[in-house]
Amino acid sequence: MSHFSYRNGVLHAESLALSEIAQRFGTPTYVYSKAALLENFAAYADACKKHGRATAENALVCYSVKSNSNLAVLNLLAKQGSGFDIVSGGELLRVLAAGGDPRKVIFSGVGKSREEMQLALSHDILCFNVESAAELKRLNDVAGELGKRAPISLRVNPNVDAKTHPYISTGLKENKFGVAFDEALAIYRSAAILPHIAVVGIDCHIGSQLLDDAPLLEALDKLIELIDTLEDEGIAIHHLDIGGGIGINYNDDQPVAVGDYLGRLFARIDAWRAARHAGKAIAVLFEPGRSIVGNAGVLLTEVQYLKHSPDKNFAIVDAAMNDLMRPAMYEAWHGVQTVKQDGADVRTYDVVGPVCESGDWLARARELALAEGDLLAILSAGAYGMTMSSNYNTRGRSAEVMVDGDQAHLVREREQAAQLFALEKLLP
Ligand SMILES: *Cc1c(COP(=O)(O)O)cnc(C)c1O
Repeated sequence: MSHFSYRNGVLHAESLALSEIAQRFGTPTYVYSKAALLENFAAYADACKKHGRATAENALVCYSVKSNSNLAVLNLLAKQGSGFDIVSGGELLRVLAAGGDPRKVIFSGVGKSREEMQLALSHDILCFNVESAAELKRLNDVAGELGKRAPISLRVNPNVDAKTHPYISTGLKENKFGVAFDEALAIYRSAAILPHIAVVGIDCHIGSQLLDDAPLLEALDKLIELIDTLEDEGIAIHHLDIGGGIGINYNDDQPVAVGDYLGRLFARIDAWRAARHAGKAIAVLFEPGRSIVGNAGVLLTEVQYLKHSPDKNFAIVDAAMNDLMRPAMYEAWHGVQTVKQDGADVRTYDVVGPVCESGDWLARARELALAEGDLLAILSAGAYGMTMSSNYNTRGRSAEVMVDGDQAHLVREREQAAQLFALEKLLP
């Protein structure tokens, strides 16, 4: 069920009219539905329970913080028992500030600095997902300086085609992410004898916005093959991290249901463990981002001007590429709905922002009935929306509001211009 729907001709988030939110908090504003977030997280948690994995030792959902890192979102998920997948020291500090458990944190990313490693080690995180031999060596050094052993997985690149946008496909051998499948064994062997490294797992993440789980199950088979080889050599693997990547519906997309995907994944894992490991369980980790938060948020914006030129109609709105970067960056398609349903004068519009770039568009060639001052909702904007926003054109970032039933909670204030240059200094 969508938590954004029309009631009496007005688009609501749960039981609250988006027009009321615009009146109270202004525009542009990101609006999240608490119920949608909880429902999307529960799809993972319930499937884990259904397949006999009720505790964090058996299965752990590590929500990908970079998809939406608002403290209220992280706190809500932490209270559901979620772990977190981070890609920077800053994201670790956010997780801690939101009440997340560092022992459920995994640290991904190709460029971890010494300082970030120190921070993560000092909080005893669950695992570093190591992405190169050079990183492994540095992590061993940093852990040694702190008198610790760093728990690691190697992020393996299974070389499967996720069949998604090239910018969000990460599992092919030409990508910068992970280590090549054929090199993984040698790196694991060297990791196993490093004094300040503890091999604990194996990891992959093959891409984002996957509609079909076939590439993920293909990646699983490659990981299983490698785990068996490693265990034959006496290198024990305690957890298998299959990454994130399940897609959402942007434009009549039909993503695989999370419960169905997890059912197939656990069935394969159980059959393999029964055949090769006397049924001994292995912990399974997930790193979902988009599938938890993507459809739980919209970007609310107001039409500033309508511009009718001979070739095109433009709706110039108060949100822009600095608020929602995905159309400019990936030519991503987001649904657009008017908050009031009753407009009469339908025309074909490009919905564009005020930023001085031709790439500043949010939607193209949409049939909309608009007037100045109308409110629009840009749909499916909960993931990679606010987190990718910038201050380009000295535009303060949007406010963020979380709706719970008929209540709205401001979870991030709108940025004011003076805050944007507060850290800058004139020459002496
Ligand atoms: C971005 C990212 C994710 C989340 O991907 P989604 O497609 O949003 O589920 C998971 N793992 C890693 C390593 C990532 O970089």
